[in-house]
Amino acid sequence: MSRENQTTNLHHFITKKMRMSHIYQPVMIKTLLQSGGEATTEEIATSLLAYDQSQVEYYSLRTKAMVGKVLTNNGVVEPIKDGRQIKGYRLTETTHTEDQRAILQAMCDEAIADYISKRGEAIWGHRGPDSGYVSGSVRYNVLKRAKHRCELCGGHEDQVALHVDHIIPRSKGGSDDISNFQALCVTCNTNKRDTDDTDFRGILDSYSDREADCIFCELGAGRIIAENELCFAIKDAFPVTEHHTLVIPKRHIADYFDLHQPERNAIEAMLHEQRQSILEQDNKVTGFNVGINAGASAGQTVFHVHLHLIPRRDGDVVNPSGGVRGVIPSKQGYQA
Ligand code: AMP
Ligand code: ZN
Repeated sequence: MSRENQTTNLHHFITKKMRMSHIYQPVMIKTLLQSGGEATTEEIATSLLAYDQSQVEYYSLRTKAMVGKVLTNNGVVEPIKDGRQIKGYRLTETTHTEDQRAILQAMCDEAIADYISKRGEAIWGHRGPDSGYVSGSVRYNVLKRAKHRCELCGGHEDQVALHVDHIIPRSKGGSDDISNFQALCVTCNTNKRDTDDTDFRGILDSYSDREADCIFCELGAGRIIAENELCFAIKDAFPVTEHHTLVIPKRHIADYFDLHQPERNAIEAMLHEQRQSILEQDNKVTGFNVGINAGASAGQTVFHVHLHLIPRRDGDVVNPSGGVRGVIPSKQGYQA
């Protein structure tokens, strides 16, 4: 390679700066180089598609099972074989002049354009029902509706790969209507059996459930000391000890045991965050009680789930042993 080549910006970028998280960058640069420095978005996308093995495999199978057979039967092509394997096809008539080739190609272009204009998008319909293929626009709309999160565990597209698939499988009479699709991450999708037609989409909608007259649904923003997507933290209005904090899911739901996994994840993260914050504010804190009152019999007075984070300090009671066992005061201690 000449010195001149080695010092171009592009050479420098490819050898020194290109940080790849996929094959996209070199494919795009190569496409631009091949087409004289400029290409449409569609041309770049087409180049990327050519590297997508699942697409290439899909159309390889189609070629062999369908179009390859039809054209072979009509004597237009013959298969190129390696043993019994079909490796490719050749035209049976190859004696065309350059002009004839140009005319024939133009005729193919015309036939393609004609067919597309008559049938429109429907010509790709065969990729829907049986192949499990979901068209780009359905996929896009389902992911958008799911806010790019798994509709079961809440995992975000940035962290987990999301699949869009049928809720009621086609094999069980499910439709291709968008209402019959859901977005699930790979893990949840794998754990869900093919015959399972549970619709998880309601979960996502429920995250925005709020109840009028619920003190925790109607707290002013000024009361909230921290929040994440699905929960928030406030200082308890009647603290058992200083910095007594409540971690509360945003969704209005009474019972801890009715929380969805993403809410548990959010609460757990907030609990750790608040513990850390309390430790930083008060170096006298040496322990915590973490508790949930689930049900009136267990002492719950506000029927919107909340988790108590109660900081403890050495000597704050004479005998702390037993801790949360103190819910039944006479049973707090158990040692002889
Ligand atoms: P429980 O339902 O028994 O777990 O207790 C409800 C907790 O919420 C108690 O610790 C109360 O002190 C606390 N609390 C009640 N009303 C408010 C409020 N408006 N703001 C903050 N904390 C509250
Ligand atoms: Zn509420």
